[in-house]
Amino acid sequence: MFLKFSLALAVDLLFIASSTSQKFESSQQWWNLARTELAAALNVRDNWNVARNVILFLGDGMGITASTAARIYKGQKKGMNGEEGYLVWERFPNNALIKTYNVDRQVPDSAATATAFLCGVKVNYETIGLDPVVPFDDCEASKDVSTHLTSVLQWAQDANKATGIVTSTRITHATPAATYSRVANRRWECNRSEGMAGHGCPDIAEQLVHHNPGKNIKVILGGGRQPLGATLGIPDEFTCNRTDNKDLTSEWMKSKHDAGFKARYITSAAELRSLDHSSLDYVMGLFADSHLPFVEDQAPGSSNTPSLAEMAIAAVRQLQKEDAGFFLLVEGGRIDHAYHNNLPKKALEETIAFDEAITAVLKEVDLDETLVVVTADHSHVLTINGYPNRGNDILGLADVSDVDGLPYTTLMFTNGPGFNITSNGKNVTRADPREYPLQHGEHMSQTAVPLKAFQETHGGEDVALYAAGPMSHLFHRLHEQNYIAHVMAYAACIGPSAGENCGRPSFASKLDDDDAFSLPHSPLKRSSAGFNDLSSVAPEVSAAAAAQVASSAGIRMTSAAGTPLTGRPLFNVPKKPTHSQASSASSSPAKIGSKSKTSSSSSAHKFPTLSPTLQSLLDRSQQSIINALGLERIQHTQAFSSVQDVSNLLGKPAFEAPSHDM
Ligand SMILES: [Zn+2]
Repeated sequence: MFLKFSLALAVDLLFIASSTSQKFESSQQWWNLARTELAAALNVRDNWNVARNVILFLGDGMGITASTAARIYKGQKKGMNGEEGYLVWERFPNNALIKTYNVDRQVPDSAATATAFLCGVKVNYETIGLDPVVPFDDCEASKDVSTHLTSVLQWAQDANKATGIVTSTRITHATPAATYSRVANRRWECNRSEGMAGHGCPDIAEQLVHHNPGKNIKVILGGGRQPLGATLGIPDEFTCNRTDNKDLTSEWMKSKHDAGFKARYITSAAELRSLDHSSLDYVMGLFADSHLPFVEDQAPGSSNTPSLAEMAIAAVRQLQKEDAGFFLLVEGGRIDHAYHNNLPKKALEETIAFDEAITAVLKEVDLDETLVVVTADHSHVLTINGYPNRGNDILGLADVSDVDGLPYTTLMFTNGPGFNITSNGKNVTRADPREYPLQHGEHMSQTAVPLKAFQETHGGEDVALYAAGPMSHLFHRLHEQNYIAHVMAYAACIGPSAGENCGRPSFASKLDDDDAFSLPHSPLKRSSAGFNDLSSVAPEVSAAAAAQVASSAGIRMTSAAGTPLTGRPLFNVPKKPTHSQASSASSSPAKIGSKSKTSSSSSAHKFPTLSPTLQSLLDRSQQSIINALGLERIQHTQAFSSVQDVSNLLGKPAFEAPSHDM
């Protein structure tokens, strides 16, 4: 909902407006920042709408460490210290942690993880779209259609939604392939692939162009002409090269024209920029024979290679024409590739491009009706070493070893090709990083364990997920990765959550324009300007400004609450504000009787200790409770601590069967 986002954005804008020239923040600034963030948190409402659109942004290999590094890098590129900034998705109202392991591996690959978050089932390492009973590389077993999984992209098509895939990798690479293909080996990108050639298993490119649901994807933008038999340059020996003389891009065009559709196949950024979306039904844009070049290696404003943001925007504009909404996957796919070669600068530039793509798309969509999910498939073995000073170049040196006396960099990896030691047969010596261009895109960070080029491994820890829009609050704790597909389906009422399987709580049908029982609306509306520079968050906000924002959120902030603990014992509790709702409920169970005695239906009761979900339920149920029980009885009710308590008060289940208009 716009409301949830608008406040955080407004807070950011306040910070931006009052940026400071001092290097570090004062205690007053930190205090005000926290009070403002608290006010914003208390204003969060869950969005129970049915999602017309779902957009999944997937940062391949963008683990939590990678996000932190990119956040700092983004800020430092703008002259800030960096740590205080945010990537755009880090301001989303709902976050979760995701367990990424595969059925048969503790540390996963991108094919099986993509199958999990797109098809809703965890599967075997390096397999795509197949039940885990199919062993890796087993073409014969994969022919059994009973093992074929369906993806959220298929579910969207089944609901007459338009679908699109955008990536900076080959369009046949693991992540996008999991939206439309089933293969027992992710490397079966073209017909020449070992293990399947001659065994009757269709390759990934073939499935994209001729099988369901690939052939019905309306927007296909990325790289990978070679696996489709449409190479424009010299064939790349590391990329699957067809031997059947098929040009699947021509076959794709022919099939669309034969069916009476207006379709275009394009190969340059210039063509993408001049597309007339109003006259097109289908578009396939393949801008490289293999992956798109790294951002770091591209000439700015290239007429050949579009940015990820340009592709994502083109996709959204094409898909938004559709009556029934759309599903879109946008992958920042080369973050992973840069990390596999221990190249932090390149990976961070790819992550900034991912950030820019999401920022651009957020200006195009309405979060009232669009679920936006940002996550990673898995992490990498990247780490952030201690203890650089605040604002230290994230690509620079962290400290000096007290063993070999040599400095070490902040960003390092536990394994990979950046291993850099020499031995005289007696002593082993680590390279001195001061002798290397640390800020260069081709500079490899040092590693502990040597591995060959591009073989740095994925990391096995959890990744983060960030979500905004309808049902984004269902991402709320540590989840298995396959849960993601089910939330997207439930949000949009498609696939396993189509029809009667998409019930909403009874209060959800009353969400719109229910002024009597909504939380106070912030006058600070969401504006596209709010998405322009979310990184510029220097914690500089005056007490008055913080109070103003808090007030707009319906939070009264007294002078005591607006003052840091300066001059007081460190762990002393500040003087309890007389009327501050935030402080009065912070150490005791929420009690209706302890709240305002007003019976006016225009005054909502807020219980800051409750979860947003339960609070939302209460917001929507108060009139019913008052009607059913009478105000006096309510005032003597001790506490709500669960949905059951609310159900008990209502005398009926708080959650009802779905209404017909869902
Ligand atoms: Zn990878």
